Amino acid sequence: MKFLDEFREKELAQRISAEIHRTVRQPWKIMEVCGGQTHSILQYGLQDLLPEEIELLHGPGCPVCVTPVELIDKAVAIAAFDDVIFCSFGDMLRVPGSKKDLLEARAEGADVRIVYSPLDAVAIARKNPERRVVFFAVGFETTAPANAMAAYQAKRLGLRNFFLLCSHVLVPPVMASILQSADNRVQAFLGPGHVCSIMGAREYESLSEQYKVPIVITGFEPSDILEGIWRCIAQLEKGEAKLEIQYSRAVRSEGNLSAMAVLDAVFDRSERLWRGLGTIAESGYALNEQYKQFDAEKQFAVHGLQADESPLCISGEILRGLKKPIHCSAFARECTPEHPLGATMVSPEGTCANYYKFRPRPGEDDAS
Ligand code: SF4
Repeated sequence: MKFLDEFREKELAQRISAEIHRTVRQPWKIMEVCGGQTHSILQYGLQDLLPEEIELLHGPGCPVCVTPVELIDKAVAIAAFDDVIFCSFGDMLRVPGSKKDLLEARAEGADVRIVYSPLDAVAIARKNPERRVVFFAVGFETTAPANAMAAYQAKRLGLRNFFLLCSHVLVPPVMASILQSADNRVQAFLGPGHVCSIMGAREYESLSEQYKVPIVITGFEPSDILEGIWRCIAQLEKGEAKLEIQYSRAVRSEGNLSAMAVLDAVFDRSERLWRGLGTIAESGYALNEQYKQFDAEKQFAVHGLQADESPLCISGEILRGLKKPIHCSAFARECTPEHPLGATMVSPEGTCANYYKFRPRPGEDDAS
C-alpha cells in the first residue's frame, strides 16, 4: 500500500539501524511519547535493531491508559441512571474502575453503547429526546477536535439532552512534568506525530529550548521510528538540543488551523488528573463558558466515589519511563488482557498489553 509499504521495507530499516550503530558512542535513554509508536516498536521488534547502549522508554501517550480511575467510576455511575444512554469508543469499556468497568455496567442493565464517532452520539441524542445521552470524550489533541465539533453541533441543533464526560489531556504539559521530576530518566523524546499534525510543532520547540532536550516529531512506521531515534542520537552525541520534524509528510510547524480554531471555540485549558501521574496544571481541556451546558460532570451529581486501584499495579511508573511491565509482579500472572488490573494492559496502545502480545513472558527468555 502506497505511503505505508515504503516505510516498512526491511532493507531501509537495516540501513537506518546500521547508521544508528555507527553514530552511538555512549548510553542514551529515549522516550517515545505516543502509544501508537510504542505499539510499532514492540510489534516490529525495533529495540532489537538498536545498539545495547540505547534504551527506549515507553511514555504516557495512550489516552486509555492515563484516564484516571475516578473518571471511570464516574462514567459507571452516570451510565447507571435510568434515563441515560452512555456512548463510548469500545476500548474504554474494559478499563477497570474501582469496582467494575463499563462492560460490567452494561451486563447489569446500563444502556452503554459503542460508537465510532462523537457525532454518532449526537445523532442518538436527536433520536431520543426523552433520554440523556452522554459521550465519553477521552483522548489527546488528536481526538479533541471531533469532540469539540460534537459540542458545536449539539449547540447549533439546540440539543438539551447531549453531554460530554471530558477527559481530554495534552501532551506538552506531561512531557514537561516528566522532565521536571527528580527521578527523570528521559534524555530525548520522539514527539507525537499525530498530535502535532493537529497542534503543530511550536510548543515542542519551546519545550526543547527550555529543558535542553532533543525532540524529534516522529511518525509511526518502522523506518519513521528508527529515523527519529537516529536523529535524537545524532543530536545527543553532538551535545545539541533542538526540535526536528521527521514526520514532515503530515506535520506542519503551524499545525491544522481549522482544527485549532474549533478547539479554541469550545474548550479552555484546565488542570487535569492523570492516572498514575497525578494532577498536572493546564494539561487538559474543559468545556468553556459558552459550552458548559454540555458538561456531564455538572449535569450529573455523582458524589461519594472512593477511587481504588490494584496495589499491584505500577503503571504510573511505567508511564513515566521508570519501569517496564516485566518489573510488575502481576504481569502475565494476575494481570492479563483477559483480566486487566490496570489500564496499560487494556488498550492496543498500552505498554503492558504490547509487552504481553509481542515480548517473551516471564519464565521465557527475555532480559529487556
Ligand atoms: S501488568 Fe497489569 S498490574 Fe502490572 S503495571 Fe501493567 S497494567 Fe498494572
